[in-house]
Amino acid sequence: RELPADPETDNHRRQVLGACFSYVKPRQVSAPQLVAFSAEMATELDLDESICQSEQFAQVFAGNLLLDGMAPHAQCYGGHQFGNWAGQLGDGRAINLGEVINQQGKRFCLQLKGAGETPYSRTADGLAVLRSSVREFLCSEAMYHLGIPTTRALSIVTTGENVMRDMFYDGRPEAEPGAVVCRVAPSFLRLGSFEIFTSRGDIDTLTQLVNYTIETDFPHLGAPSKETYLAWFREICERTATMVTDWMRVGFVHGVFNTDNTSVLGLTIDYGPYGWIDDYDPNWTPNTTDAVGKRYRFGAQPQIAQWNLLQMANAIYPLIDDAEALRNILNDYVTVYTDKWQQMRADKLGLAEFKADDEELHQQLNKVMQLSETDMTIFYRLLANIKVTDIDQDDGTLLQPLLPAFYAPESLSQSDKQDIAAWIRSYLTRVKEDGVDDRSRKTKMNRVNPKYILRNYLSQLAIDKSEQGDHSLVNELLDVMRHPYDEQPEYEQYAAKRPDWARNKPGCSMLSCSS
Ligand code: AMP
Ligand code: MG
Ligand code: MG
Repeated sequence: RELPADPETDNHRRQVLGACFSYVKPRQVSAPQLVAFSAEMATELDLDESICQSEQFAQVFAGNLLLDGMAPHAQCYGGHQFGNWAGQLGDGRAINLGEVINQQGKRFCLQLKGAGETPYSRTADGLAVLRSSVREFLCSEAMYHLGIPTTRALSIVTTGENVMRDMFYDGRPEAEPGAVVCRVAPSFLRLGSFEIFTSRGDIDTLTQLVNYTIETDFPHLGAPSKETYLAWFREICERTATMVTDWMRVGFVHGVFNTDNTSVLGLTIDYGPYGWIDDYDPNWTPNTTDAVGKRYRFGAQPQIAQWNLLQMANAIYPLIDDAEALRNILNDYVTVYTDKWQQMRADKLGLAEFKADDEELHQQLNKVMQLSETDMTIFYRLLANIKVTDIDQDDGTLLQPLLPAFYAPESLSQSDKQDIAAWIRSYLTRVKEDGVDDRSRKTKMNRVNPKYILRNYLSQLAIDKSEQGDHSLVNELLDVMRHPYDEQPEYEQYAAKRPDWARNKPGCSMLSCSS
């Protein structure tokens, strides 16, 4: 085996063979400035506020200053992108500073995104712009507060330098402020971290990485053996199912759910051209690069997850040599996901459980929400207010409280109104069966149906301000997203429907991968 490459002299783009990572040095930048930090993440890392606001903090988390014990490195991984094997990808612009164990004994890996080139940068610059960094920072923390498994974000700093990007339509490169986000997770390993070795026939390194991962992040599974590997794969499938169920619950669309963007820990990872469903449309994708095939549209995420897991099964097959056993686990994913999905849909309606007879009710809801543009988030919050005794009201009265959820309530046809009212009546009939009182149902529903989501246009407003040097909206949105299930009267405006100006605006309803 070769010695590890020298981080100063060997930081050139190349195929890295026989290694899981390369030592690299973050690039020096001219004027690091803090945009925002996550107080909750800082607390978990035993950092107090004054440290986060210090000059030194911005220097460290821009990549200018290494602290004792930091050993910066970039990971090697591959991946299937849009259904095709893409070969070596790797941390092209992410640099792990090292791991921290907090006072409670919890372990975290700190990673700078946008801190300069690595051997995996391919044809790109290793940098990130403020726009994409604000999106990653805010969404990581929003997802965390929604109770969804995710990588976290400690901080966002601007570097004082400009980065060239071609923005959206005109294709002309434009200078944008550069930024670095510090991401935090127990591990940033992806399915593609394993695929790369199998694709190269490097079963030795594959075995070492699998054993290391199980020992470090899945210690409850025990010593390496064929059975342990199968139990590990089962757990990966289960965690992925949980994560995707949560995405479907809140209307999150990842946008580039490739295997290199699928965490082996079942965490939401790599916030790029993601988006949030405003009006409910299972075919919606925020990613303009995916506009034709719509591979990563909202409604396809559960199936794409299984496809990604199939690639993982292929990757670990050489350690297991039992296709049947792997296939069984993949098939079980469907059952596991379906169970979680059904329970989640029952929860969203405030029902105790999903009963076999409920399928029709849920299917009808799926139809009703697509009759006219319906804001998914607002719809469920308003539905929680409807009382069982309302069942006897006429159509118009029954529908009245839900009207604010529609983008064009005045354009609802008579038959739309009838269908929606009919659905509400069957829903209330089903609620009656459960015998739960209106108040407890509302409380239950509001615990799983967020009032506040990080609507695409809100991030864009925050970005527009930040690019002018005013980071107040980034910090305000971070604050709102801390309590997504609570009523926050002072922040009512952030629960509003997408305004019409944002309907087809780049950054608000469509995003490219250029970030
Ligand atoms: P993504 O589609 O964002 O998951 O990125 C796919 C691959 O491209 C990963 O290996 C990234 O590290 C790499 N990449 C994305 N943007 C850049 C960039 N600006 N510089 C270097 N590598 C990048
Ligand atoms: Mg990625
Ligand atoms: Mg990315």
